Amino acid sequence: MEKGILFVVSGPSGVGKGTIMEAVSKARGEDMVVSVSATTRQPRPGETDGVSYFFLTEEEFFEKRDANGFIEFALVHGSWYGTPKDWVEARLAEGRDVILEIDVQGALQVKEYTRDASYIFILPPSLRELRRRITERGTETDEQIRIRMNKVMEEIEHLDRYDYAIVNDDLDKAVEEMLTLMKTGRNRLKSDVYDIIESYREEI
Ligand code: 5GP
Repeated sequence: MEKGILFVVSGPSGVGKGTIMEAVSKARGEDMVVSVSATTRQPRPGETDGVSYFFLTEEEFFEKRDANGFIEFALVHGSWYGTPKDWVEARLAEGRDVILEIDVQGALQVKEYTRDASYIFILPPSLRELRRRITERGTETDEQIRIRMNKVMEEIEHLDRYDYAIVNDDLDKAVEEMLTLMKTGRNRLKSDVYDIIESYREEI
């Protein structure tokens, strides 16, 4: 069976990553999953343990980190977040594509973990619109909104480490673009290219 592909999706908080991922998951069905991260942040109303995140205490998080249980981990907006290695590797082995919705620090660590991943950055149409979306969501305090807005320009500085960018000014269009990029991502899977290069050696 063909192994699944890892897609890394980053973008500022409030840009609509979650909504895009939901629509993409629906369109792709069983052959794609969005990874469930571990975090030490408090659950928001409506979030379920094991579905939105695995909610851990700091002690539990550090124990898993020290046991090499994460593909990547990072301190984001004052809480720890990490991608569980076993969970992701099991899904890829089943032949499913896996999306990691993680911040830039984490994405850079994934580059150390594998050369087979496709990196997609989602941008807001404007900062004003981003602030409006975060404020409307109503789940963050003013201080948390300030921290998240400050992080935006910092994250955008790393855009050149990503393969593709999507501007989310229209949800349907963003979802279409994402689905197209996922097909492209499969075509340019680097391990296939390395296999071909390996076969050149046999021809020499
Ligand atoms: P939120 O708390 O709003 O769900 O997520 C806050 C930020 O943490 C987002 O930018 C999200 O991409 C990032 N994040 C979520 N899970 C992970 C993870 O496993 N690793 C890293 N590095 N960042 C994550």
